[in-house]
Formats: sequence, structure tokens, C-alpha cells
Amino acid sequence: MKHFGTTAIHAGQDAEQWGCKSVVPPIFNATTFKQHSPGDPEGGYDYTRGGNPTRSSLQTALAELEDAEHAFVFSSGMAACSIATQAILKSGDRILAINDLYGGTNRYFSRVINTFNIKVDFVDATDLEKVKTALTPETALVWLESPTNPTLTLVDISAIVSIVKSHPSKPVVVVDNTFMSSYFQQPLRLGADVSMQSLTKYTNGHTDVLMGSLVTNRTDLAEKFSFLQLSIGAVPSPFDCFLCNRGLKTLHVRMREHQRNALAAAQFLETHSQVERVLYPGLPSHPQHQLAKKQCYGFSGMLSFRIKGDASTTKRFLNALKIFTLAESLGGYESLIEVPSLMTHQSVPPEQRAELGITDTLMRLSIGLEETGDIIEDLDQALKSSSSE
Ligand SMILES: *Cc1c(COP(=O)(O)O)cnc(C)c1O
Repeated sequence: MKHFGTTAIHAGQDAEQWGCKSVVPPIFNATTFKQHSPGDPEGGYDYTRGGNPTRSSLQTALAELEDAEHAFVFSSGMAACSIATQAILKSGDRILAINDLYGGTNRYFSRVINTFNIKVDFVDATDLEKVKTALTPETALVWLESPTNPTLTLVDISAIVSIVKSHPSKPVVVVDNTFMSSYFQQPLRLGADVSMQSLTKYTNGHTDVLMGSLVTNRTDLAEKFSFLQLSIGAVPSPFDCFLCNRGLKTLHVRMREHQRNALAAAQFLETHSQVERVLYPGLPSHPQHQLAKKQCYGFSGMLSFRIKGDASTTKRFLNALKIFTLAESLGGYESLIEVPSLMTHQSVPPEQRAELGITDTLMRLSIGLEETGDIIEDLDQALKSSSSE
């Protein structure tokens, strides 16, 4: 197999597929296509909701990057999540989900899908015994994330898959791979049935497209995903597919740089006297550093840390930052910072936040692609001004 970067640049991009031999996939804004004769459209394209050449070239690339047969893109990560659950579940089924779940997925599981007579069991999936005992005959879907957000806790994906697959109800395992992207983690190789991503984050990487994907080798699931892509219509525009496809061309280069900057920032913060705790799987001090090295190909650009002090220290620190932007989301070329307890995880009940260690002094950083020295200098000067008042 070709290496990742080569596949990202070439898969699905062959100029021979276009009449004009365009080296870059054209943006086909057409919603409909002329047919040769009734029911005989060129290349199977009859209406853009069902299929579009710009979308196809992105989907081909995404599938090949995970050495998979099938990839489907949707209008957001949440749309991909919603399509996955609609394809897999029926009334009366149960979902077993990791307790430390992305807030939007948590909201969808506990306030949307539950109204269709589907129950959700939230489990601390770092404890394999708890996973084993939480599986029921009705469990049809196991939903994992690793590392989690914002505490950057890992779960052993292949160990969980082997427990799940030996259960008689044979639930489908979906891994939300958004935090790692397919460059740093390959869920299908770890035994998962479906690799889900919010492409909005690292894969597009430029903070200007909302999109999600489902990648699988299972023909039965692929048929359902394709049917629901057509039937529900939560599809991205051809222009967004073009942009995401363009972002994909530099994913490997960006991820290496995100990792290099994040590791430098994590090491700097870890030795700083005003920092209580740094959470970054790439640090040997991370409790699951060995698992991270075994399961992933790298450590991404996400890190969290707890500042010494209280909520007012956090506020002073944030006010002093010059390069980091206070904003939700992650995975773009620019460095972002947020306070999960007040922003992304505000909807998590206070007692659950306390249990997960999401305090007012915990900040989550998406380390961007600015020069390493500038990132560290910004953190350093902001730490200084947060303590001097
Ligand atoms: C952002 C995100 C999502 C949702 O994706 P959208 O593209 O915003 O709909 C799902 N899971 C994780 C881990 C995310 O970070």
C-alpha cells in the first residue's frame, strides 16, 4: 500500500476521469444530469442528493485512506452520527456509549434518539469489566471515542471490540475518530465496524467547512448509509466537498506539525510552576501513554491543562493571550482555546462534570500551525500576567 500522504494526494483524483483532464476535481454544482435514455444516467449520476462527482472524488479518497471499501460524507459530523444510528438501530434497541462523550453526541443520544424508544447506557469504557457487564441482548450499537474530550482519556479500542464481538447480540462498533483523524488512528484496523469523523475539524483543517463521514468495510452497512444519504438528504454541497478534498491534500503535513507544536507546548506547560496538570497522551506522564503509543500513530494537537488558582485566574490567563483565540471547535490551522465547563461542556450536569474533572480551571487547547516559539511565548506571557494581579 502507498503511504498515507501519497494516497491523500492521489486517491480519487485521477485527471483521466474528467473530460477536460482537470488535475483538480471540478466543482459540479449541477443538481441534475442529462440521461442517455430514461433510467440510464451517465456514471449513475441522476440527481445530486443521490450522488455528485465532486462528492465521489472526496469519498473515494476518504475510503482509501482507511484502506476501506466505502466512505460516505454528510452535511456535518452530527448528520453522520444521526445517519449511523438510523441505519443500525430499531425501536427497542440499546446503545452502549462511552460516558465521556462529545457534547453534541450526548445531546443527540439523550434528547433525540431516546424519543424513538432507544435507550442509552453510558459506561466508563476505560474499565473493560464495566463494558462487559453493560452489554445486554438489546445492545445493537457500541459508540466509542478515543481520546475523549476534554480530558484526553483513551480507551483500548481493540480490547473493547473483542469483548463486544464475543457477545451474542453482536453490536456494531462505531468509533468517533475526529480528534485523531485517519492519519493518527485507524479504527477499522483496530476492529471497529465504522469509523466516523467530523471532517469539520482536522480533515478539512481550515475552519471553513462543516462535514461528517462514515467509513466501513461492511457491505450491509454501506448499503444502508448510501440509501439514507439519498433518502434523508443531509448531504454536503459540491463546493464544500471541493474544499474538504483540498484540505485533505495537506492532512499528513498538518498533523505532523500539530503534533510537534502540541508536544512542545505540553512539555513547556508541564514544567511551569503555575500549571497544576497537563493532559496530553504524548507526554510520558499521561497515564495511558503506552496505550496511545500502541493504538495510535501519533498524538494530535489537542491538549488540556489545569491552571493553579480559580475561575478568575483562568479569566486573567485568557484575557492576556494574544495568539490563541477564545473559541469552540478544533483542528484548524489556528490555535484555539476554550473553557469546557463554561463552553463546550456546559450542558453536562455539574456532578458529571466534577466526576470527569471538568473544573473552572481546566482549559482545552487546539494547538495550531503557528511557529512553535510564538505559541510557547504566548502561553508564557499569559501565565505571567495571570499570576501578577
Ligand atoms: C465536532 C465534533 C462532532 C460533531 O461534528 P459537527 O461537524 O460539528 O457536526 C462530533 N464528534 C466530535 C468528537 C467532535 O469534535
